[in-house]
Amino acid sequence: MTQAKPSGSASEHARSYYAASAGPLPGYPILNADLDADVCVIGGGFTGVNTALELAQRGLSVILLEARRIGWGASGRNGGQLIRGIGHDVSGFARHVGEEGVKYLERAGIESVDVVRQRIAEHAIDCDLRWGFCELANTPAQFAAFKSEQARLADLGYEHPTRRVGPKDMHQIVASEVYAGGLLDMGSGHLHPLKLVLGEARAAASLGVRLFEQSPVLELVHGNCVEVRCATGTVRAASLVLGCNAHLDELEPRLSGKVLPAGSYIITTEPLPETLATQLIPQNLALCDQKVGLDYYRLTADRRLLFGGACHYSGRDPADIGAYMRPKLLKVFPQLQDVAIDHQWGGQIGITANRFPQVGRLRQFPNVYYAQGYSGHGLNVTHWAARLLAEAIHTGHSRGLDVFSGVPHMTFPGGPALRAPLLALGMLWHRMREILA
Ligand SMILES: Cc1cc2nc3c(=O)[nH]c(=O)nc-3n(C[C@H](O)[C@H](O)[C@H](O)COP(=O)(O)OP(=O)(O)OC[C@H]3O[C@@H](n4cnc5c(N)ncnc54)[C@H](O)[C@@H]3O)c2cc1C
Repeated sequence: MTQAKPSGSASEHARSYYAASAGPLPGYPILNADLDADVCVIGGGFTGVNTALELAQRGLSVILLEARRIGWGASGRNGGQLIRGIGHDVSGFARHVGEEGVKYLERAGIESVDVVRQRIAEHAIDCDLRWGFCELANTPAQFAAFKSEQARLADLGYEHPTRRVGPKDMHQIVASEVYAGGLLDMGSGHLHPLKLVLGEARAAASLGVRLFEQSPVLELVHGNCVEVRCATGTVRAASLVLGCNAHLDELEPRLSGKVLPAGSYIITTEPLPETLATQLIPQNLALCDQKVGLDYYRLTADRRLLFGGACHYSGRDPADIGAYMRPKLLKVFPQLQDVAIDHQWGGQIGITANRFPQVGRLRQFPNVYYAQGYSGHGLNVTHWAARLLAEAIHTGHSRGLDVFSGVPHMTFPGGPALRAPLLALGMLWHRMREILA
């Protein structure tokens, strides 16, 4: 088993399968001047890049500042699973947004996948997109619940085929003995996320967005015109967008305590022989189970198994991610005992207290907009949030933004020191219930 070391320099891309396979990584300049724009966007992940792109499409002048590299954060390191839905279960938010609001959020969970689909097509972004996803049941009760999930999708007018797959037929989905069934969905899929975000940045630049890398924002001075200060330059803009997600730290204290970073980890095997790859996942689907600290996996374009999981609140990554993740992979696929691990890396998920993303504007400074806290399910939702932010900034109003803002953006209790341990305790409780069930 080969063991590539996980990280690279903190200001360069993580040493991941994605960085190794994305092709030439373009560089954007460091901010080295004082500049003006209609909108300044902070963060070069899916949220920031797509908000900038959508604003430019609407004719606004935009500057995007990224502390490290475009796609350095979760956007360039994630599992690449493009799955419908927002947060976990939105039906519980009816008391905040009404039944109509819930229906809007459920539809948005579906249409957000189409936004990604259209973006890829419109800008001809080569990002290894494949359609097909199967949600995996760990228990018979979870499998039984797929019936109502499928019925709900039908009610919402979901236009893609879905099918429940019973335990006896699971070999059609995955060569593993551990599942109690699945829900196949041909309207979700998987892709190479770093190629996607880099392609989107290229598209944004072609529309006139000025992108800067290695330009961490150090200070915000609020007012009718926001001053966004970096070490070697300042941007003055009428509106500001914060797309920093789990990496916001204390840049905007009104938001910092609302999102908690949690580590999630991924390994990829060496390229597998075609027969073995086809046997493991015959339909080349994205797959994801429902455990606390779930397993998510898929094949890459060059037939590696890309396997991710875990959710760490300690702020400390495992010393050897490969050694930590390999037993999880072997539990699902014991037949891969002799397969080498070529890449290993981790990233920070932005978790919120109610597992629902926070998309809105600051009450105290209404020209400051933000979207964050996708709680591990952000590939589609970042693109939707970007559209809502651009719509609100351009027209002064967005019904969708109102619905999202209607769901409380809760602050984690415990202050900076106790937030993570309290959440870890809560997750341990859920995990114990899962084991004892
Ligand atoms: C390991 C892992 C696996 C995941 N798998 C999936 C998946 O399969 N499917 C799915 O839907 N979601 C998945 N997610 C979640 C998804 O990747 C995120 O929700 C999404 O990428 C968030 O995008 P973002 O742009 O908001 O944040 P990020 O991509 O994290 O970008 C934030 C950026 O802000 C920059 N920044 C922060 N502070 C500053 C500053 N002061 N100045 C300038 N720039 C700054 C950072 O450098 C960073 O590049 C996964 C996440 C992780 C970590």
